[in-house]
Amino acid sequence: MNVNEIKEVKALLSTPKNIVIVPHRNPDGDAIGASLAMYHYLKNKGHRATVVSPNDYPSFLKWLPDTEEVFKFDTQNRQSKSCIEEASIIFLLDFNALHRVGSDMQNTLEDYKGTFIMIDHHQQPDDIATYLYSDVSICSTCQMVYHFLEKLEDVNSINADIANCLYAGIMTDTGSFRFPSTTSTTHRIVAELIDRGAENAKIHNNVYDTNSYGRLQLLGRALSNLVVIENLKTAYITLSQQELNEFKYEKGDTEGVVNYALSLEDVIFAVIFIEDVEQQIIKISLRSKGSFSVNKFSREHFDGGGHDNAAGGKSLLSMEATISNFLSVLPNYKNELINSYEA
Ligand code: 5GP
Ligand code: MN
Repeated sequence: MNVNEIKEVKALLSTPKNIVIVPHRNPDGDAIGASLAMYHYLKNKGHRATVVSPNDYPSFLKWLPDTEEVFKFDTQNRQSKSCIEEASIIFLLDFNALHRVGSDMQNTLEDYKGTFIMIDHHQQPDDIATYLYSDVSICSTCQMVYHFLEKLEDVNSINADIANCLYAGIMTDTGSFRFPSTTSTTHRIVAELIDRGAENAKIHNNVYDTNSYGRLQLLGRALSNLVVIENLKTAYITLSQQELNEFKYEKGDTEGVVNYALSLEDVIFAVIFIEDVEQQIIKISLRSKGSFSVNKFSREHFDGGGHDNAAGGKSLLSMEATISNFLSVLPNYKNELINSYEA
């Protein structure tokens, strides 16, 4: 966003508007944190703001202020569509392409004629927004929302609700401030958010220490399914639908599991394959350390993408065929895998 564009956005937001805020499908802490932070900011400025999420999100995020006000496009279709129709501005937060909201909502957004403002840190954003604020070097969309408010010269409007939402998103997308994308600027912003009312210890507890017994048992199964391919510095985990059912899987239960595979010494590439019988896909999460790009790997093989060190994807094959496909292409990356340094 250049100086002129900022001026235009400022002018747009200077009078009350109907505004819709959209995170990606299966929103994570960053997507829903950024959306609710923006919601609180815009409402406090006198706008009519609504968050329309493509679908539901994990219960460990359902303490975020005004989480109950979020519309779900899949289950509250009529209300969601009419909000979108009435909106003169739609914020697209934490995603880079319209297909990331799922095909139903994608169709509705493709018909939309108003102003899109996209704020996102994923690679290769599609050219769909009137105003695009894209920066792939920033750890989280929540940090970008903070910078967006800086651009609007309105950081002083950050109250405790906004601070809690932004803190939650920065914390989750940086793996609690440990991924290389975490900078001194991130820490300065987080300090500012605490000063403005973010309850840091409580947020960690709400997100990380509210597990169900079933979730921990499922983690146990995932870890016992872990396969390590030492000569390619790779580890992968599978979870079948049957295993998910056995441990009474709930949305969000598998989040973060792939990081255990990446935590192995000498492993720089970790993947989890999760069967989803309802959607008839294998959902794939990929993580790496150093220069090996999982964004590239996922784009090349699993119809996905994301960041260099964290990406998602999917496979339409069976679990068995997906794994054998994965194992057949992996050796082609031997040099990149062996030489991926630890950042
Ligand atoms: P996860 O494995 O947690 O689903 O996703 C890891 C990261 O990659 C997240 O930032 C997520 O938004 C992004 N991501 C997941 N799936 C896709 C995809 O299909 N395309 C793109 N561009 N990004 C994705
Ligand atoms: Mn994000």
